Amino acid sequence: MSETTRVVFSGAQGRMGQALLPALRTSPGVEVVGEVDQGDDLGQVIRDVRADAVIDFTAPAAAMPNARTIIEAGAQGVIGTTGYSVDDLDTLDAEARAAGTGLLIAANFSLGMVLLQRFAEAAVPYLPRVEIIETHHEGKVDAPSGTAQRTAERLAAAGAEPGPASGDAARGLDVDGVRVHSLRLTGIEARQEVHFAAPGEALLLRHDAHSRLCYLPGILAGLDAVRGHVGLIRGLDPVLFP
Ligand code: NAD
Repeated sequence: MSETTRVVFSGAQGRMGQALLPALRTSPGVEVVGEVDQGDDLGQVIRDVRADAVIDFTAPAAAMPNARTIIEAGAQGVIGTTGYSVDDLDTLDAEARAAGTGLLIAANFSLGMVLLQRFAEAAVPYLPRVEIIETHHEGKVDAPSGTAQRTAERLAAAGAEPGPASGDAARGLDVDGVRVHSLRLTGIEARQEVHFAAPGEALLLRHDAHSRLCYLPGILAGLDAVRGHVGLIRGLDPVLFP
């Protein structure tokens, strides 16, 4: 493998592809050697251009097929597409190990979001009553966002206490006892607020993604991490906090 990572971008015509490709083309250590979208033969392109790695931001329906194509073609994968179950991740880990290649799958490549989740986890033992508000652009189809869902799961595992019980939808989705409230508004890319409260005080941790460029440093860190790695890396945490 050369010093420069030869990259194919899968999902090139999408919002992430269009936002990230210009920045990737000028990123040191990266050469964009292919761009594919729906209908293209990803495996054939990987082989034709002798790609080292594939960056995949496509759609949940393409998540497993594309990951398997990357493994079968012998490339490394840095995958941001959502829709993987825990079982899917276990399966891909085994398949990547058998093929001797490496994948990194992360539900969120923003460094600020990785930090927000860690800071929030650290606060839970001291301020266990916590709720989440996540806001995204109106084009987002899923609610709550996979990232907010994951934050809630992590806070629950860290000991968050359930709030007052209520069957009212206005109280948000109950994720393992942590309430998650979703807003969909034009003009806001992505925001997550983690609200803690205790008698006499409140703590708010908030992350704003103003532009999809916030995902670039995490993706570049992912490309470095999978170089020479065998098996699946789950999220950016093990890369940033080894
Ligand atoms: P989008 O719908 O704007 O773009 C997706 C693109 O993928 C489209 O051009 C579509 O034609 C293409 N596509 C669909 N199926 C394909 C296939 N089988 N092979 C190749 N291309 C295919 O979506 P988006 O906003 O760019 O987001 C893409 C994915 O990335 C979503 O799953 C989204 O949730 C996820 N996402 C992840 C992060 C992260 O940090 N991990 C950040 C933003 C978005």
